[in-house]
Amino acid sequence: AEQIAGQLSQLLERIADEVAPLRGAGTVADYIPALARVDPGRFGIAVADLDGGVHGAGDWETPFSMQSISKVFTLALLLAGSDEALWRRVGREPSGNAFNSLVQLEHERGIPRNPFINAGALTVTDELISLVGDATGELLAFLREESGNSALRVDEEVAASEAAHADRNLALTHFMASYGNMRNPVATVLDHYVRQCSIEMSCRDLVLAGLFLAAHGVRRDGSQLLTCRQAKRINAIMLTCGTYDAAGDFAYRVGVPGKSGVGGGILAIVPGRCAVAVWSPGLDKRGNSVAGVAALDHFTTLTGWSVF
Ligand code: GLU
Repeated sequence: AEQIAGQLSQLLERIADEVAPLRGAGTVADYIPALARVDPGRFGIAVADLDGGVHGAGDWETPFSMQSISKVFTLALLLAGSDEALWRRVGREPSGNAFNSLVQLEHERGIPRNPFINAGALTVTDELISLVGDATGELLAFLREESGNSALRVDEEVAASEAAHADRNLALTHFMASYGNMRNPVATVLDHYVRQCSIEMSCRDLVLAGLFLAAHGVRRDGSQLLTCRQAKRINAIMLTCGTYDAAGDFAYRVGVPGKSGVGGGILAIVPGRCAVAVWSPGLDKRGNSVAGVAALDHFTTLTGWSVF
């Protein structure tokens, strides 16, 4: 393992070369114009290890829209500051459906399947607003501190565009409210959710911000954000529910907890070892980055660092 750690930079360059033919494969998310404009040929990969080493290749310092990767951080901040009350409002099972599906919500009387589909993340955001007030401000402050990048911000153009195309997310939120599963006004919850998704981060920022999940809940300054048990649980939910309707395939190919976003980023965690982030905007049919998943597949194969 030490030998691998010493060679991480070369390893990441090699992986970037190997996935180069996949750059531009798949489809860039185009449900809002601000995302559709991204150059599909971009690719970046970064690793942060528990000793504080950060390595990267390709466009690893270029900011992109984190989108659903934000769902990991809002869940972590919520669980850090609350008891287990959330689990009365949201489940922990893979959905086997699209991330924005309404179908199961009706079958399960307004209780989302898990915190990483949109309905579940809206519930988490609702709880976080009740806990801290300015949920988005709290999230940004955390991400800035962990990444050491005080320039992190909400991309206002993406946020405005998301808000203007939010019919489905509004429907999900209203539907949960109709079952009594929403504490704050729908408009407030949606506003925070949209702004959280619209934060821009690079692979470098993401691995540093997500490192606590590899470090059993310990932040970069040595303080404990989550207990060991809470970190274990978030990683488990990432593995089973973190990559849309393809969590089985992601476990099969990559074999570590991961959370993807429609901006083409994926944050993956090797518990006890490191955080890895990839970014390439071309998505497969399920919404995961084509070159990103391939790069993570190479990474866990070449290092032997899967959880299996
Ligand atoms: N803002 C997107 C939505 O809620 C996030 C999608 C995603 O990254 O999964 O539709």
